[in-house]
Amino acid sequence: MFEKLTGNEQAKDNLRRILQAQRTPGALILAGESGVGKKMFAIEIAKSLNCLSPTAGGEACDMCAACLRIARLVALSEQKEPEKGENIFWSEHPDVGLVRAMGTIIKIDQIRELERETNFRPYEGRARVFIIDEAERMNEQASNALLKTLEEMPATSHVVLITARLDALLPTVRSRCQIVRFAPLSADEIEKHLTQHRKPPLPSDKIKLLARVARGSLSRALSLDAETYRTKRAPLVDAIAALAGEMGKMDRARLLRVAEELSDPKRKDEYESALDALEILVRDVWLLSLSNNNAIEITNADIRDKLAPLAARTPSRRAARWLTQIEDVRRTLAVNINRRVATDALFLSMGDE
Ligand SMILES: [Zn+2]
Repeated sequence: MFEKLTGNEQAKDNLRRILQAQRTPGALILAGESGVGKKMFAIEIAKSLNCLSPTAGGEACDMCAACLRIARLVALSEQKEPEKGENIFWSEHPDVGLVRAMGTIIKIDQIRELERETNFRPYEGRARVFIIDEAERMNEQASNALLKTLEEMPATSHVVLITARLDALLPTVRSRCQIVRFAPLSADEIEKHLTQHRKPPLPSDKIKLLARVARGSLSRALSLDAETYRTKRAPLVDAIAALAGEMGKMDRARLLRVAEELSDPKRKDEYESALDALEILVRDVWLLSLSNNNAIEITNADIRDKLAPLAARTPSRRAARWLTQIEDVRRTLAVNINRRVATDALFLSMGDE
């Protein structure tokens, strides 16, 4: 049942209408930022189409053998890396499978096998459902093979494409599919989900922090640890304090030390999340600098008393410029520049009055 999935009420309504009318299209695209639950929605569709005792609205019961076996697909696929020759990763239900990238691309062999499989009648359930995760990873040949598959597919087969980059799919593929769009989750929705489902449970101040730092992505919120985040955040607050000061010699040295730590090649995987954390902090300082209003909502609410005096010393247009400068670095990272050089340059240019 869609009810137990968090957020995206509009996407739920769309999918409910489709299931209720018993007119599930042959090809659906679930599009929207990563980490908002698109794969769980795709599983829900596969369950609904094969449930042994669906609700009056056509949704899955969540209890029958078919629902339970299909539901395990996500956990199973996460336990097992794609292996050579695995064109389709099968669930425990013979009519539901997942196509995922081998390395970085989804290859034509995978789509050819998908085509063969879509031509069979369901073995056990009422519909064959194939989920293509990260569909934007299909190369051109694979995309063209998929087009052909969709043209000739029997009504009992369905393909659900999942993508965070709708614009990277071929226009001809997009136009053959019904598109359901997903939005980032609100901090309140993430907070509610973490309160109900996080194991082990967390105190509410940590949940509040994670819900805000995750910026709309439930999976990011679930993978973050509040203490780790706070530890990483401390030197960044230091850096902002140095920037908000008069930038004496000491401050400059402090800044470059933070820059050096941030771009440490040993912590390569953490670089982007550190840049995220810096951006969120600067945005908070900017928000606080705009208004004297104590009620204004900030992400790092737990250190408001540290950030407020920094904001008081920072003109809001300076903070706004910092945000642009961080965005610029993010863009240049996409073209693979030296992180160390970029980070030093970022902090030094942020230091310009
Ligand atoms: Zn069921």
